[in-house]
Amino acid sequence: MYAGAKAIFYALSRSATLKRMASRYGMASADSFARRFIAGESITEAIAVGRRLEAQRLLLTLDYLGESVRTMDEATAATREYVRLIDVIVAAGIERNVSIKLTQLGIDVDRATCVDNLRRILDPAARHDVFVRIDMENSRYTQATLDVFETLWQLEYRHVGVALQAYLYRTEGDVRRMNELGARVRLVKGAYKEPATVAYQKKAEVDASFERLMRELLEHGTYPAIATHDERLLAATRAFAGERAIASDRFEFQMLYGIRRDLQASLVAAGYRVRIYVPFGTQWFPYFMRRLGERPANVGFVIRSMLRDR
Ligand SMILES: Cc1cc2nc3c(=O)[nH]c(=O)nc-3n(C[C@H](O)[C@H](O)[C@H](O)COP(=O)(O)OP(=O)(O)OC[C@H]3O[C@@H](n4cnc5c(N)ncnc54)[C@H](O)[C@@H]3O)c2cc1C
Repeated sequence: MYAGAKAIFYALSRSATLKRMASRYGMASADSFARRFIAGESITEAIAVGRRLEAQRLLLTLDYLGESVRTMDEATAATREYVRLIDVIVAAGIERNVSIKLTQLGIDVDRATCVDNLRRILDPAARHDVFVRIDMENSRYTQATLDVFETLWQLEYRHVGVALQAYLYRTEGDVRRMNELGARVRLVKGAYKEPATVAYQKKAEVDASFERLMRELLEHGTYPAIATHDERLLAATRAFAGERAIASDRFEFQMLYGIRRDLQASLVAAGYRVRIYVPFGTQWFPYFMRRLGERPANVGFVIRSMLRDR
């Protein structure tokens, strides 16, 4: 079931008809279904959501949605949009943190140009003290993403970190390597459909891996981010930090916009740092479908909302 639902939603996410229908209804009005997970289509809407979250003492990372670009022109346009986002964030005075995908910057088209694009974003980010997190995509990109990351690390970029996925067998080694470098890691379970040759398939196995990696990061990592909505793993993290006397400012929790707002608020009230991943932009369909794949019960609210909006 765990891997099965992901597979179905992955297949659906490639349907052009569904994408057209969703795009028509998903953002049409202020309470349309996609707005549950996506801050809006424009930077202005994302900044407004960011301000609302900051008023609730939540931290932010803004993600300009887009992935799998096929041409250099698209990658250049996304790079420009990120540079503009940095300017807007600085002018708005909200927290300086963005998340980015390398397939959006053209890693599929040309690796060297993708690195150049990333540097075009990292340079102004460094000037303005903006932290840049590289999201992790499907396993075809794991090695390439980490190679690009290490290239930048060798070039002395330090305001940049990566996401690592607990469902991949290889991640134990990758966590060790990032800890050796002193690089900041965001630990996630993993959102893509992966084969058994590279990834755990059962929820219990993924959770056990997440817990092992969480311990390794809390003990030996550099300001790790524990990104999950799983109550059991959140409790395990808090318990481990307590046991080892790891102060609550030496790590942070991260959650996705619109998911488990109750947990977000209760962690803040308990004195933890909680960062919310806030996606925005017109290219929201693949991200949205991954959120449905994680929790098929979400389909009910989408259908109800579409029937209402027609
Ligand atoms: C800040 C952040 C950044 C991320 N970045 C990446 C990345 O770079 N690469 C990557 O592969 N994945 C990324 N993910 C996604 C991650 O891999 C998981 O797919 C996602 O977090 C769901 O897993 P979970 O840890 O919440 O646990 P689960 O076991 O899936 O869920 C635990 C509980 O959380 C709630 N929940 C989880 N998902 C949903 C949902 N969609 N709708 C409603 N409730 C839900 C439910 O109550 C569920 O019982 C990120 C997640 C977060 C929080």
